[in-house]
Amino acid sequence: MDLGIEGKAALVVAGSRGLGRATALALAAEGARVMVSARDEASLADTASELRTADVEVATVAADITDPGAPAQLVAAAVDRLGGIDILIANAGGPPAGRALDVSEDELVAALNANLLSAIRLIDCAVPVMRESGWGRICCITSFSVIQPVPSLALSNMARAGLWAWAQTAAQDLAAEGSGITLNLVCPGHHATDRMRELGVSGTMGDPHDFGSVTAFLCSQQARFITGAAIVVDGGATLAL
Ligand code: NAD
Repeated sequence: MDLGIEGKAALVVAGSRGLGRATALALAAEGARVMVSARDEASLADTASELRTADVEVATVAADITDPGAPAQLVAAAVDRLGGIDILIANAGGPPAGRALDVSEDELVAALNANLLSAIRLIDCAVPVMRESGWGRICCITSFSVIQPVPSLALSNMARAGLWAWAQTAAQDLAAEGSGITLNLVCPGHHATDRMRELGVSGTMGDPHDFGSVTAFLCSQQARFITGAAIVVDGGATLAL
């Protein structure tokens, strides 16, 4: 299936490894021009060289997405170097594990900043650019914990739930104004990435490239009527009605 996004300008945040990188690769394979951001120049260079095998325009920007000024800088860089922004993949590293009553206030604030506010800031900056072209696709990489909170991942559970509530509201607003912009959450279950290795998770894992393909589909022309949704990619691990 041709996803109809050849030549579209995509910004993939936290895209040097794992699910972000797999998403960037899937978008590039569909002919999108991709700007990838993460903190580390070396891993970005490695990602960029793999992306270029798809024969598309590729740019990288080093930025720490927990810096409140980074989202505006990244969107400005995408406009400058790709001529606009059609597709936004909002992503960030996951917060540390911790039991709900053990986490400190500093940890709560840091998780909200990294996994809730960074996405809202990115979307706030990207939407005006997308409105100009009357087309946009926004996906936030979150977690299956929006459907079913994960024991001892209190920080992640909290931040993802907040983003899910905000994103549903924002998606409805964008639909009501006829913006042509969709906004969805893509919610991974366990996939084989560094994050899962760091958390010591074992067992059946999804392939990050499959996750990237699902996310790319949500950025397609054909997905124009999917918005305000949380698409769970977890191999059936989550139970919820
Ligand atoms: P990962 O650790 O493999 O990769 C994280 C990426 O984010 C890397 O490119 C890293 O450089 C970048 N990054 C981290 N902190 C950053 C920062 N402050 N600024 C900019 N870039 C930053 O993680 P992943 O497995 O790809 O997970 C992506 C997201 O999905 C995370 O929020 C994670 O918690 C969540 N998640 C992952 C899984 C899974 O199975 N992999 C499951 C549930 C939720």
